[in-house]
Amino acid sequence: MTKTGRTHAGQKRAARGIDSGSGHSCQHELELLRESEERFRKIFESNPVGMALVGLDFRFIHANLAFCQLLLYSLDELTRLTLLDVTDPGDMNKELAFASKLAKREIPFYHANERWLKKNSEPLWVGLTTTLIPRKRGDSPCFFLITEDVTERVQNERKMVKQRRRLLMAVEDLRVINKIAGAASRTIEINELLQTALATITELEVFNVWRQGGIMILAGQQLIPAAFLNLPDTFLEAHRHLGASDCLCGEAATSGRIVYCSSAFDDGQHCIRYEGMKNHADVIVPLKTSARIVGVMFLHLSAGAFMDRRRRRLLSIVGSLLANAVANAQHYQQAKHKSLHDPLTGLANRNLMDVELARNFARNKRAGEPFSVIMIDLDHFKDFNDVHGHSCGDRVLVDIAQLISGEIREVDLGVRYGGEEFLLILPGTGRTEAIEVAERIRRKIAGFNLNTAPRPAHITVSLGVADCDKGVADARTLIARADSSLYRAKEKGRNKVETWLELPAA
Ligand code: GH3
Ligand code: MG
Ligand code: MG
Repeated sequence: MTKTGRTHAGQKRAARGIDSGSGHSCQHELELLRESEERFRKIFESNPVGMALVGLDFRFIHANLAFCQLLLYSLDELTRLTLLDVTDPGDMNKELAFASKLAKREIPFYHANERWLKKNSEPLWVGLTTTLIPRKRGDSPCFFLITEDVTERVQNERKMVKQRRRLLMAVEDLRVINKIAGAASRTIEINELLQTALATITELEVFNVWRQGGIMILAGQQLIPAAFLNLPDTFLEAHRHLGASDCLCGEAATSGRIVYCSSAFDDGQHCIRYEGMKNHADVIVPLKTSARIVGVMFLHLSAGAFMDRRRRRLLSIVGSLLANAVANAQHYQQAKHKSLHDPLTGLANRNLMDVELARNFARNKRAGEPFSVIMIDLDHFKDFNDVHGHSCGDRVLVDIAQLISGEIREVDLGVRYGGEEFLLILPGTGRTEAIEVAERIRRKIAGFNLNTAPRPAHITVSLGVADCDKGVADARTLIARADSSLYRAKEKGRNKVETWLELPAA
């Protein structure tokens, strides 16, 4: 109360010229209020922004047209629902937590993107701003919701996130492929190539495999072990004679598809067992070019471990990458073999002979290691051809080549020097031993039954031996010595061994 006897509110009304005693002014004030309310109602109803009033029990009290259109409900339908009915179950807890804080006035408002569901169950993303309208003249407090349809924006953002994730994965996949391609192109020697690739693949986190596995190459009806990583000898023993369709590797090699077995102990198709085998999952990748399957790669991982589509796809790319590397290496090996070997007999040709002679000379000069050569020429082979025909003569050359190969060590080299002339290079072999080898070959050939009709024929050879001593300056000199020894053997009646220097008398 003031000195004038008026309340503070009465004073304020008087100041605005609205005297409580004036019926006319009161009428005018009501009129203004109604007008103002009507104005706000219109603004609310026709606002393009969806707005709604929701009770603290989440029941819809009122909503404007834009709000109803957003959710595809009529106002009537909406007022029979609660806010939770239109909220996606996934966002329900978030909504409840915010509303509780707002009701307790812990926060002045909240804004969040929420997923709602339209009447037709389509998802609707709304940018939602909620405030609390406090209690007024007996009215209950309620929430005031302002919404914005952000569905397109959210969906675009999600699409972008997905695309970014896919892009990052593609970059990662390319990195992986690049790394393996790098490892596979470091060498052209198949086994070394596969060993390097295997080590690289098992180190890459993306595959989630053990540092254990192997690569088998298809050779006719067999899968031949070509590269292995951290596997016991018992494994190698059990896989030494693996048929092209045996076990899971065989299945991948015949079907050309990736084979996955989640537990080696429980899968009946994983039929090969070996001592010390731990339970594991297997993934077997066929090494497949566009034209053929060249082998398989098997990798071990924890039993039951999941191999998803992305990793399978990546492994199948790796499989074809390795297959092409293997096919290239095989072509290279074949071309290399062709360039260094005689096509009829399979013995070395003069190219390989030159390389081998140079190597032996270098060793002889460096470490004084002895070596010898034997020149062999078939006796009266022209006559043999005349009697049995040229193609029979060819077959005999193949037989003699095989016979010679069977009489020398792996470190020795048999060369088809000319038409029916052979040269043997014997590393680490002195003159005496070389003469023994030559004698053994002479006897073997002389006693050999040639496959000729109507009855087996025989053929003999003459041999000239020369060893590399201090007087031999180069390969040409050494061969000339062997050749002149051979000439002497021919002169002495053929089917003989002669050497450049006679052995000193015992
Ligand atoms: P010699 O005892 O003096 O060596 O008599 P030869 O008849 O063997 O004489 P020579 O070594 O000079 O003749 C080589 C013959 O070997 C000539 C050719 O008919 C035959 N010959 C050479 N290369 C081949 C071949 O690739 N296939 C066949 N079938 N015969 C060949
Ligand atoms: Mg000859
Ligand atoms: Mg001859």
